[in-house]
Formats: sequence, structure tokens, C-alpha cells
Amino acid sequence: MSAIYRRYRPTQFTEVIGQDHITKSLQSALQKEMIAHAYLFSGPRGTGKTTMARLFAKALNCPKRTSSAEACDKCTICQEIKNGSAVDIIEIDAASNRGIDEMRELRERILFSPTSLKYKVYIIDEVHMLTKEAFNALLKTLEEPPAHAIFILATTELHKVPDTIISRCQRFQFHRASIESLHSVLIDIAKKEKITLTNDAIELIAERADGSFRDALTILGSVSAHGSNLGAEQLREILGLPSEQVIAKLLELVIGQDPLALATFLQKQLRDGQDLSVMVRQLCDRLKATIFDEKDPAVIQKNATLLEQCLLVLARIRVATDPNGIIVTRLLALVKSGAVPGPVPVVQTNTPTPKVTDLTKKENEFVNDQSSTQSVDSVSSQESQPLESKDFWGAFLLEIKQHNHALYMLVRSAKLLELTDSKLVLAVKFRFYSERLFETKNRKLVEEAASKVHGKRLILECQVKSDIEEAKPASGEDVMNTVVDVFELEEVAS
Ligand SMILES: [Zn+2]
Repeated sequence: MSAIYRRYRPTQFTEVIGQDHITKSLQSALQKEMIAHAYLFSGPRGTGKTTMARLFAKALNCPKRTSSAEACDKCTICQEIKNGSAVDIIEIDAASNRGIDEMRELRERILFSPTSLKYKVYIIDEVHMLTKEAFNALLKTLEEPPAHAIFILATTELHKVPDTIISRCQRFQFHRASIESLHSVLIDIAKKEKITLTNDAIELIAERADGSFRDALTILGSVSAHGSNLGAEQLREILGLPSEQVIAKLLELVIGQDPLALATFLQKQLRDGQDLSVMVRQLCDRLKATIFDEKDPAVIQKNATLLEQCLLVLARIRVATDPNGIIVTRLLALVKSGAVPGPVPVVQTNTPTPKVTDLTKKENEFVNDQSSTQSVDSVSSQESQPLESKDFWGAFLLEIKQHNHALYMLVRSAKLLELTDSKLVLAVKFRFYSERLFETKNRKLVEEAASKVHGKRLILECQVKSDIEEAKPASGEDVMNTVVDVFELEEVAS
């Protein structure tokens, strides 16, 4: 957790920003002494759930609480709770204490009266991470809690908390911080910290924080050492974000009609180490801005549709094992849906073709993993033989097509470079094609098909050659389909 965030954590209910519906309700409960035994705080990360839990625990126990239900913040009890030394405030991180043992221990210890405070308060963070058995144990405690015990459960994923637990709790939903409140907090704290930022830099941080106060202050802390009067462009560099130009180019390609240009662009971004999800998020921010600035209803509608689709992409990658693959697929599909297929553009790849050695290494590692070192030896000792490629290629493609159409599309776009009694060497146009080919399932299928057709056990090797001609003259649509198929491949195959 960043030092700035810790330093500016609210110490009173009145200092909490953007969660008035919760502070008012808790203050009112304290004033009326209507205290529940269990509370459930749900909401996005960085919106102050744990902070609120501590404030509430403090106000519950402070003997000199004010008439507006604020803790005095001066007495020994307040001080103890503030510096984390109060033994009766027990914080449990369910992400690292998920099990039944922790909950059993909790059940035993909860029976003892608080040592020095009025209430024993259990704050269980990320409660959705508990195992099923642990939830059951917790439920038993919630069903018959001792009078002195109060639970505050916090979660970012309410849907993973069992209904039986939810129904025992008073529930509060935390809101994401609005851009305006992030903005005002950032201006306020930057001033106190003597960090000078231009207005567009503040805006950029507020956007990047994505509704989280914690993230906003963490970013602020991370840029504070980089000099004064920082602007948005400098900030982008410091934070490793793509420049305005890159985002503008991405937008141009997404609304354009040239899937291959988009594929090439995305491939270059990946090679440059860009995180595509960051780019799409920024694309969304840009689209949002254009929607609000635009006067033409048709453009507004068009951009809104595009924004919706990009937001769906972001939603989808949250649970994806290969977020970049999903992003490339979906962005290309956007081009397809809005485009009239034109002539195939010539790919201008300025980046050098990746060396084959990487893949060879991967290959050997793989073979060693399978402990079939014999195959490695036979590969190196085997002489290459002339190709009998035509007969082999057709039957080989057919064999793959019967098993997996997406993989067939990928292999069909490849070129047969070499066929010996021990190996099959293919050339593909893009690096991500070879990456897909080398995923265990795909590779296995290709090698089995090749071995079956050829009659000898073959090992697959692959080279990336951006200048290869595809097996068949492909229309823009065909190339696009292949690219989309290749990215869908992992999902289809797994
Ligand atoms: Zn106090």
C-alpha cells in the first residue's frame, strides 16, 4: 500500500468521500445504538471498505463518541485502534487465511469477552475467498454470535459469497469513486504533498484510477519523484502508457476497413511490450470523451456502439487466460463487422523477423519434458530429404481439418519449408501463429496428423517469416478469418 494512501486515510466519517449513503447509515445506527452483529461491505477494490470497517470499529468502541457518532480520536482506545495495537479488533485476510482451521480458531476465541474494548470486532477482508468448509464454520458463528462480537465482512466479489452468509448480514454497497471526486481528492492531496501537476495530468490519473481512491493515490505517489509541473504526456511515459498518437492510430484502425493493418499494428504493440488491455482502456476513455464533446448525433451513436463493444472486450478479459488473444480477436471482429472487404494490403513489417532459435529452444525443452531425448538425438543426426510435399500437404491438411477447423485454417496459411523422416518445418506469417501452433494441444494434433500421413514420428518446428506467401491467394476477408480463427483457437481447443 502506498505511503500517501496510508497518510491520507480518513480518520473520521466526515472525511470519507463518495460513500455518504454508508457513513450516514452507520452514524445513525451508532446514534440509536442499533448495532447489528454482522455487516457486509461489498464493492470495487480501493473504494474504502477496510477503511470504513476500521472507522466503524473505532466509533463502536470509543467511550467519548461525539453526538454525530464520530470517535473522539484522542482517547487511548482510539489511539490503540488507530495504530493497530488493539487486541480486540481482529483483522483477517481471507485471501491468505482461507481455511477451516482459521474459522475454527475464530469460533473458539470469539467466546472470550473483549480484553479492553466494549466490542470484539472481526474484520474479514476478501471474505469470498474462504473455502466452503470455512464458510460453514463462519455461518455457525453468525447464527449465534456472542453479544460482544461484531463482524464486518468485506468483499470485491459479492456473487461468490453464499446467500446464507449474506442473509445474516446488514449489507452496504460501496460505490466506485466518480471522476469528479477523484479529481478533487487528487488536487487536494497533491497540494498538501507539494506535487505540481498540470490539469490534464490530474485528469489522466483520475481516469487511470478507474474508480479507486487507492489506485489514484498510488499513482500520485509513484509520479511524485519525477520532478515538478508534470503534464499528461510525461506522465504517460513515466507510467509506461501508450502515447496519444498510438491510441489515435488504434482508433483509426478499429474504425477502418483494413484488418491486416490492425493485426500488424497490434502485433507490433505486443512486441514492444505494450499491455493491450491498457490500450483498450485508453481507447474507451477516448471514445467516452468524444461522445461528450461531439455534436453530430450519428457520430455519437457510432462511437457509443464502439465504446460498448470495447467495454465488452474489457469485461470478457477479466476471466480470460489469454487476455491479449481475446483483445486481438475482438478488435479484428470489429473491423470485420464495419468493413467492406477490399484488396489485401501488403504487410510492411519493419521489425526484424524473430529468430528461429527461440522456438527451437522451446522445442527442445518440450521434448525433454516428455523425456523422449531419443527424438532430439534423431533430429540432429537425421539428414534432410527432398520434399514429397504435394501429396503429403493435402492429406495432412485434410487430417487436421477433420479434427479442428480453426487449427486447419492456421496450418493452411503456413508454408511447408522442410519435411524429413523426423521433422516437419513450417513457416508462418506472424509470431502469434507460431505461438498458437506450439500450444500443447495444437502441437500434439499437428504432430500426430503429420506422423500419421507420413508414416514416421515427426516433430514440429516452426519459423516466422513475415514475407511468406499464403498457400492460396486470400482475400482480405480470408486473411482476417484466419487471424480471428488463430486467436479463437486456444478457446476452441481447450
Ligand atoms: Zn476515542
